[in-house]
Amino acid sequence: MRACPVCGNTQNQMDLWGMSNIALCSVCGLGYVKHLPTLEELAAIYAADYWNGRKAYTDYLADKVGTQLHFQHRIKSLREFSSGGRLFEAGCAYGFFLELAQKVWTVKGVDLSEAAIAYARDTLHLPVEQGDFESNPPEPDTYDVVAMWDTIEHLYDPALAIAKSAEGLRQGGYLALTTADLETLLPRIQKSAWRMFIPAHLHYFSRRSITYLLEAHGLKVVHFSHVSYYRSLRQMAQIITWNKPDSAWRQRLQSAVERLPFMNTYIPLNLYDLMFVIAQKQ
Ligand SMILES: [Zn+2]
Repeated sequence: MRACPVCGNTQNQMDLWGMSNIALCSVCGLGYVKHLPTLEELAAIYAADYWNGRKAYTDYLADKVGTQLHFQHRIKSLREFSSGGRLFEAGCAYGFFLELAQKVWTVKGVDLSEAAIAYARDTLHLPVEQGDFESNPPEPDTYDVVAMWDTIEHLYDPALAIAKSAEGLRQGGYLALTTADLETLLPRIQKSAWRMFIPAHLHYFSRRSITYLLEAHGLKVVHFSHVSYYRSLRQMAQIITWNKPDSAWRQRLQSAVERLPFMNTYIPLNLYDLMFVIAQKQ
């Protein structure tokens, strides 16, 4: 079994909640897949239906309004710490965050997905590059903010990503990230049925393990909260039937919701299992 990628521990690793493919580190509490997928397997995971199917996002482009509502909240929180300068986003996807952030910061972004980057570059005219973050890191000592929304859990080497992010920050700059929080109520209840257990997620953090990793790279946590996501009724119906994609019950619920006139109204939904962390370079 591979060592814990956060603390290096190789001892007493257990299966997380009886899942034979995910280990739980007995030292820092990180959950991580025992065998990393190959590049070919990853490419299959991120094929076109990743953004517009039922593997991760049901229709990422159509949900732009809701996605930007929660990004507005992230920006409001960030502005309490940084009022401008340069911002780098790792895993910028279609550029929905950068489109808003460019009103405050001079922005740059990178993402692995060619389809997403093509949209961010050609439709939103954002300065973004296609590639993996580990080979396209921020330039050293350059940025006031490095942002990583729901990205670290996807990366092969989260420790390297945090190291590269810390390197890219100027002294006193901020790393801001969101990721699922394993040590909260909902995953403890739902166990292997938790919606975060998808093939694209390779690492499962908690407040404990993310703090451990950030501090190891000279980053001090200055903000910690559990944040909501804006969801439409249509999305909520999809979320609660997540594990039953082909059931008749899901089809009936979906078609009932589709008929509601307010199915696309966005409502903030906080399941207290998504953490928002801001850490400052010391
Ligand atoms: Zn560990």
